[in-house]
Amino acid sequence: MICELISVGTEILLGNIVNTNARYLSKRLASLGIEVHFQTVVGDNAQRIISALDIAYTRADMTVLTGGLGPTKDDITKEMLAGYFHKKLVPDEKALENMKGLLSMSDRKTLTESLRKQAYVPSDSIILYNHHGTAPGAIMEDEGKICILLPGPPSEMEPMFEEYCADYLKAFSHQVLVSCNIKMLDFSHAPRMKVGEAPVADALGELLDSPNPTVATYAKDDGCLIRVTAKAETHEKAMELLSPMIEKCRERLGDEYINYIREDI
Ligand code: ATP
Repeated sequence: MICELISVGTEILLGNIVNTNARYLSKRLASLGIEVHFQTVVGDNAQRIISALDIAYTRADMTVLTGGLGPTKDDITKEMLAGYFHKKLVPDEKALENMKGLLSMSDRKTLTESLRKQAYVPSDSIILYNHHGTAPGAIMEDEGKICILLPGPPSEMEPMFEEYCADYLKAFSHQVLVSCNIKMLDFSHAPRMKVGEAPVADALGELLDSPNPTVATYAKDDGCLIRVTAKAETHEKAMELLSPMIEKCRERLGDEYINYIREDI
């Protein structure tokens, strides 16, 4: 199952907000054994959203879209997506009740037409009810293509993903990815001993070519980071693969240069 993330939002393109949704989803999808090959950012523009979807489905089986589910005029993702997946938008009683409940607890008591628009959901789809906001998400399937549609605000998107999508996605992957980080000490202020990425890579040598677990180095401002990642059927089996590889890395790097070794959660 190859996945592409599509983040909808002109704010992201303009650099007004950081795309933390993509980071969150990439990390979670990897841990569920779903490979993300591309991340796309597209503005709130109907034609360009369609074009992003067309491109995504030439190279992925599934897309996860965030953003553009809200009540305003520029929130057009749901309408676009429903059309793309040959679904009608139909009123959903549960989504409407949820919205009324949220409204009764807020200062805004009127159920305006634009708010009501959010209680329309794509027909024949899995509806993801939003317990932290008004816009429901959806999972749509059509001719082998899958699309998971989630709201933009991270405070709504993350719990929705955990409540509905994690279990849904487990059926598509029989593997999990588990990573451990080896953090080198930051000697950047002591010129006599700076542990940069190049000497670390030299010390690790052919371990960097290992297919499973993989070993990769990253130059960080506060010292080099080595990420060791194993793919296996269960977390336990992944840890069994990781342990001997981490031991080999430790031997090559030398304990005196290592700050910590811990699972990347
Ligand atoms: P709303 O009901 O608030 O309109 P929405 O699903 O339409 O939700 P957007 O309008 O696209 O989502 O974004 C609402 C807010 O969510 C943004 O202003 C931003 O604060 C946050 N947000 C949206 N997309 C992202 C993202 N990819 N990463 C981080 N934050 C995001």
